[in-house]
Amino acid sequence: MSESILVPPPPAFAQGALVTSYAAYEALYRRSIDEPAGFWGEEAARIAWHRPYDAVCDAHARPGEIAWFTGGRLNVSYNCVDRHAAVTPDRPAILWARNEPGEYETITFRDLQERVGRFANVLRAHGVKKGDRVCIYLPMIPELACAMLACARIGAVHSVVFAGFSADALRERILDADCAVVITADEGLRGAKRVPLKPVVDAAVAGLESVRSVLVARRTGAAVQMVPGRDLWLADELARQRATCPIEWVDSEDPLFVLYTSGSTGKPKGVLHTTGGYLVYAATTHRYVFDAREGDIHFCAADAGWITGHSYIVYGPLANGVTTVMFESIPTYPDAGRYWQVVDDLRATIVYTAPTALRALLREGDEPVRKYRRDSIRVLGTVGEPINPDVWRWYFDVVGDGRCPVVDTWWQTETGGILIAPLPGAIACKPGSATLPFFGVRPLLIDDDGKVLEGNDVAGNLCLAGSWPGQARTIYGDHARFLATYFSRFPGYYFTGDGCRRDADGYYWITGRVDDVLNVAGHRLGTAEIESALVAHEAVVEAAVVGFPHSLKGQGICAYVITRPEFDAWDREELAGALKEQVRKAISPIATPDRILLVRGLPKTRSGKIMRRILRRIAAGDFDPSGFGDTSTLAEPAVVDEIVALARGG
Ligand code: ATP
Ligand code: MG
Repeated sequence: MSESILVPPPPAFAQGALVTSYAAYEALYRRSIDEPAGFWGEEAARIAWHRPYDAVCDAHARPGEIAWFTGGRLNVSYNCVDRHAAVTPDRPAILWARNEPGEYETITFRDLQERVGRFANVLRAHGVKKGDRVCIYLPMIPELACAMLACARIGAVHSVVFAGFSADALRERILDADCAVVITADEGLRGAKRVPLKPVVDAAVAGLESVRSVLVARRTGAAVQMVPGRDLWLADELARQRATCPIEWVDSEDPLFVLYTSGSTGKPKGVLHTTGGYLVYAATTHRYVFDAREGDIHFCAADAGWITGHSYIVYGPLANGVTTVMFESIPTYPDAGRYWQVVDDLRATIVYTAPTALRALLREGDEPVRKYRRDSIRVLGTVGEPINPDVWRWYFDVVGDGRCPVVDTWWQTETGGILIAPLPGAIACKPGSATLPFFGVRPLLIDDDGKVLEGNDVAGNLCLAGSWPGQARTIYGDHARFLATYFSRFPGYYFTGDGCRRDADGYYWITGRVDDVLNVAGHRLGTAEIESALVAHEAVVEAAVVGFPHSLKGQGICAYVITRPEFDAWDREELAGALKEQVRKAISPIATPDRILLVRGLPKTRSGKIMRRILRRIAAGDFDPSGFGDTSTLAEPAVVDEIVALARGG
């Protein structure tokens, strides 16, 4: 079984790592649990405080009432920009990889300080004050990071909405967070596609009196309509302002941003993060999990519109003074070698991406990878979904040449930063497992009756005891929903919504959302495990597994599978039979799918996650779109119609 395969940290890497052995990890972990104030106090000392905090964490806090570094005052923009500009002004802060292959722009810490200062003055001129919310709907251009940091500089709260969402989804988010200023661009570029943004904003804010100003960055120069009195070109506004903007020192618990979850399980929630704890946690996890240090070039290929981008493109790396890459394009433009071209051109040392991107690249084979040297890479990371063991191996063996540790990082929008992941120099990995908790993190597995499962070799609902600095503080404007969503199912604990197994060695394996953990004839099966078994078959590119009501077994298993084009000529029945056999052999006969649907695409959120709740409805024979829930975050809604047609036919 995959459970017993151990991949130790590559020795050459481990030697020079920040944490070099399991024993060292364990000692630090113990200290973080036994003496959280001491442990986090030391980490917080890497951050500049305008006024020292009174207490590391609020010892009297009730679950769901969370406060860290109380009484402290600081500013995130100062920590990420000014203090580095003072010492290393010429170091690149942001390396922007434009959509056009081979085109880059370097922004030093000195440049960034100027740009952020000017931007912050623009916001002030538009009446933005401390605590006001600003909506950012921008593509991956430097203005996006500058806008976030400019908000932070004046104590305003940003709400970044991924620049791919529809007008309705954007409008809903602008209204929910009550944003008076929206920052956007004429268009975005994603590979060969131009993505109109300004027209989307126009539709989103039509008739909304609450939106006073729309600031528009020019990316492509496309003609757009400008509404007089409301819309202004960002460049003109910036040109009016000086670069010096005084810093607004804020309380540790003042809000830094609102960010809506990806919506793969339901209506997106406006997750609110505050200042001190979030910054300390983003910086600390970035340093340890990626073994980050001065001189690193951190290439996180996510969009800054997701929490991954917030914490590991912008705040974590910049707080640590590490150069960060902003990648405007997509992994397959102009071909599947694009990531590795960026790596070679910029000498990137850390690469952080998602299983969905890796699956797409693996499909194109090794050649586009081997064409590039990739010798600058030290650490490889993944986030967003369970990574299939086969994909993990490919990442490790081919992309990293067996030289670079792979860190599979489990976390959520709500957790602010990574919670379960291997420290790259210290922890032996098991492909497909996020391995062990980060410092200060206490994972618990709880059964459906609320009993905490002790010991190893157990599976249940993944919960967290206590708090960690990066934990979300509330859902914007709805604290009752925050408590109900995360703290009521298992009183006293934060409930993640994910199912998880702790194996005989104490390693954590995320089995999928608890809604996706199947109970087949009394056996608990993780959808992730079945999907990995399917992906291990040479014909399969991607698979999504869901349960459906079954009269005998309780739940039956339905697999939606995308196959490689080379297998198009195969007999469909035969192929489905081969795939069933594959799962039977890899896991057990119990896990054999009852139905296999060979589909062309899967319904995914714009962050690349499969929306299994829709697939569940379809598998249950319920084709009425009104039962699919909030689909505003779907990347390609047409995929759903295709699957429905296929399911009806089959
Ligand atoms: P919503 O909460 O609205 O349904 P979402 O959960 O998809 O949206 P995110 O906060 O972006 O939004 O995603 C967090 C989830 O992603 C986790 O709860 C988990 O299910 C999954 N996930 C993230 N990283 C990993 C990982 N390394 N392994 C397995 N699952 C992961
Ligand atoms: Mg979630």
